[in-house]
Parts: sequence; structure tokens; C-alpha cells
Amino acid sequence: MNSLELAQHGWGRVPVEVSHCYRPEKIQQAKSICLESKNIIPFGLGRSYGDAALNLDCDTMLTRRLKRFLSFDPTSGVLTCEAGVSLEEIINFALPKGYFLPVTPGTKFVTLGGAVAADVHGKNHHQDGCISNFISELELMTADGEIMICSPEENSEVFWATISGMGLTGIILRISIKLLPIETAYLRVTHKKASDLDTILALFESHADTHRYSVAWIDCLASGKNIGRSVLMLGDHAELNDLKSQLQKSPFKPRLKRKKNIPFNFPSFALSKLSVKAFNKLFYWKHSESTHVIDYDQYFYPLDSINNWNRMYGKRGFIQYQCVVPWKTGAQAIQKLLEKLASSGRASFLAVLKAFGDQGSGLLSFPMPGLTLALDIPNDKGLQEFLIELDEIVLENDGRLYLAKDSFMRKDDFSQMYPKLPEFIDIKNRIDPLNKFQSSQARRLGIIKS
Ligand SMILES: Cc1cc2nc3c(=O)[nH]c(=O)nc-3n(C[C@H](O)[C@H](O)[C@H](O)COP(=O)(O)OP(=O)(O)OC[C@H]3O[C@@H](n4cnc5c(N)ncnc54)[C@H](O)[C@@H]3O)c2cc1C
Repeated sequence: MNSLELAQHGWGRVPVEVSHCYRPEKIQQAKSICLESKNIIPFGLGRSYGDAALNLDCDTMLTRRLKRFLSFDPTSGVLTCEAGVSLEEIINFALPKGYFLPVTPGTKFVTLGGAVAADVHGKNHHQDGCISNFISELELMTADGEIMICSPEENSEVFWATISGMGLTGIILRISIKLLPIETAYLRVTHKKASDLDTILALFESHADTHRYSVAWIDCLASGKNIGRSVLMLGDHAELNDLKSQLQKSPFKPRLKRKKNIPFNFPSFALSKLSVKAFNKLFYWKHSESTHVIDYDQYFYPLDSINNWNRMYGKRGFIQYQCVVPWKTGAQAIQKLLEKLASSGRASFLAVLKAFGDQGSGLLSFPMPGLTLALDIPNDKGLQEFLIELDEIVLENDGRLYLAKDSFMRKDDFSQMYPKLPEFIDIKNRIDPLNKFQSSQARRLGIIKS
């Protein structure tokens, strides 16, 4: 099959790398590509931020055309589909039948394969864990082009290496996922304001059992006694009775909203410290403590309503720094990270804090019990050195960074953060002894020796 030479990037638009892209429409084509290629990585919808789905000067397999729905059991809610299906397509299929995704990241423009390969978490991690908790089986195309059925019971070692394995064990072709029954397409959302870090942590604790979803927007430029100023957004799927009578007539059909678009790259001054400070002030004061009913798009995917929002950062691109730090010293670590950011003169337009629940079984899964902080930071001069300072705080506190967001992590830091890495490499070596599945990230992090 022919390939196209394309410059590709993740959502943060750093780095940009050229690779030979293959775009199979059938499993048989995927098999031929897999057999011919010496060095390839799957590429879903490119919503990982850095180089996880990139493969400089080598091959990538675009999976988006492998997207058939194969079966759905309306009683159990188990859906089986190809891995190139996007979460948006699953919602469009399942919502009218009274089902929703059991776990969803903050965008629905990711493939199910990409979501499983990163073992994504959502706003319900503290209650439901990662997406892998709902995957009963998957089909993996391994380096020899053969298909391996993997589940927690069958080929379970390969299953737990593939979950969170960032495409390095093979191409996930088919996935069975148990969806969540719901009564409406809406959520009952409560906002609570916290004037500082202690208050937001106390709110996370007191609401751990009361709401399925929780996440806090945090003002990363607040300083002194206001550090950690935030708005907590608690949510639960709304029941029919929660809806106004007009909406009760078609509870699974929220009104379609017009999408906005960022048509060009913004100049770099557009997201300056000043503009972020003004936005943050407005955001905090605009949100009153209240409970209201909104549709799933507004709660789960507010940024999806703006096409190409990553252009806000201009041509230079941006990174998302997401770390998790265990509860033991989590509060001090988050305080240090926010202080470091505030004193650096950098600003994060989007800063999110969340409490995680139990660790899952994926060998390279990111979440652990503790606090996770995600910061969008423009790619300016000196960024890499600054990130190393943040990494040091994370390491001192036994935390880790998320592979799906990473662009710059150093390999020694990575192996310290992921204690199950040797087990992962062992399994990879067994099923892919020639390291056919490689990414730029895997080489940078030393998962593959280059
Ligand atoms: C706005 C935004 C919000 C986000 N919010 C969250 C969040 O709340 N929680 C969270 O956990 N993540 C979040 N993410 C990250 C995102 O969910 C992950 O990066 C996800 O992996 C992206 O899926 P994708 O289809 O775009 O995959 P890509 O970015 O194309 O690839 C990601 C990885 O998956 C591998 N992969 C893709 N398809 C397959 C396949 N078929 N078989 C094997 N491996 C495959 C790739 O090789 C690569 O290593 C967010 C990203 C954005 C842009």
C-alpha cells in the first residue's frame, strides 16, 4: 500500500515531525502494512499533545478508517467496534439508546483505540477509575501480523501492557466496552467556589462520595493567601425529573449549538500573562455557587465547541503539563508547582485540578491515588529548563507525568516515575522482539534503545 510523506504533530503542535503515513481501510491492508514496515506506530486522532503518536522519518498507521460498529447488546450495554471509531461517534450511536461512555477524557475527538492505548481517565476517576475498567476484550495485531485476543482473563499480561501501552505492543483493531446506562443527555452540575488550596482540597474530600464527576478550574496566577483559588464543578447524570417539561419530551436530544472556529494562528502576545490574569479574574467572579442542568457537551467537552482552539497559542505551539502527586505530600507539591509557575512569569490559560482514585492495572497507566494538576503552557524560550524544575518537584513527591501529554520528559525521570516499566519492556520484547512498534516518544524515553 502507498504511503504519503506528511508533517505531523500532536495537539500541542510541538514537535512537528515528518513520517510515512499509511491509511488502511481494511484489516487485511493493516496486516500487509504491518508485515512490510520495520518501524511503525498507530496514529488515531492526534489528540495526545506531544510525540506519542509520532515516528520521525519512519512509518505511522492512521487508524481512522478502521471504524466499523460490529455489535451492541442493548441489555448489557456492551459495544464492540473497531478502534478507529471516535468517542463522538460512539456517543451519537449510543445516546439515543440510553447509553453513554463510562469514562471520557475532556474531548470527544479521540479514537477509542487512542483512549485505550493511553488508559484515559475522566472527571469520575475518583469513583470509576480509568477506561480499562470497562474494556472486556480487545483484538491486537502484533508484529507478525497475527491477531491476538486479549482480555483480563486471556493473554492478560499482553492486555495490561496494551492498556496504557501507547501503541507499543501493536495495533489495537477491535474493542469491547461496557457503556453506562443513563436517563438523559444532561448533567446536574453544582459549582462551589474555593478561595485557596486548603478549601479546594477539603471540598474534594467532602464530595468524594457524593458526586460521580468532579473537577476544579484553578486560577494559576493567584498568589499569596489566594494560591489555589478555584471553582469546583461537581456533576451527576440528570434523571428525567431533573429536566424542564419541554426537555423531557426528547431527553437524549440536546439542542445543536453552532461551533466557533479559530481560523488562524493567534499572535504570541494574545495569551500573555495580562490577558490570562484578566480572564481568570472574570472566570472566578462570574461563577456563582449554584446548581443547574446542562447538556453533556457543555459539561464534558467545553473546548470541543471551538474548532482548532490549539491555534490560540500561535505557531510556537504549547504543551500540557499533567502530573499526579500522591496524597501524602500532594497539597505541598501542588502549592510548590503553582508558586513556581506564578514566579516564572509564565501563565497557564487552562489549569485544572482533580482528585484521583485507585491505581489501575495498566502497566504504564498514569493515575495513582492523589492530586492531578494539568497546565497548558505556551512553548516559549526556556520552556524545557522550566519543565525540568517542575519535574523535580514531582519526583521529590513520588509523583509522575502523563505520557499522553508529554513532550519533554527525560528518560531517567520516566523510569523513576513508572516502576512497572521493566515488566512492560519484558512483555514488549516477548511479542515484538525486533521493536517494530516504535514512536519518537518511546525512543526519547528509552523504552526503545535507539
Ligand atoms: C482537549 C483535550 C482534553 C483531554 N482530556 C483528557 C482527559 O481528561 N483525560 C485523559 O486521560 N486524556 C485526555 N486527553 C488526552 C487524550 O485523551 C489522549 O491523548 C488520547 O490517547 C488521544 O487519542 P487519539 O485517538 O487522538 O490518539 P493519538 O493521539 O493519535 O495517539 C495516542 C497514543 O495512542 C496510540 N494509539 C492510537 N490508536 C491506537 C490503536 N488503534 N492501537 C494501539 N495504539 C493506538 C498512539 O500510538 C499513541 O501512542 C485530552 C486531550 C485533549 C486534546
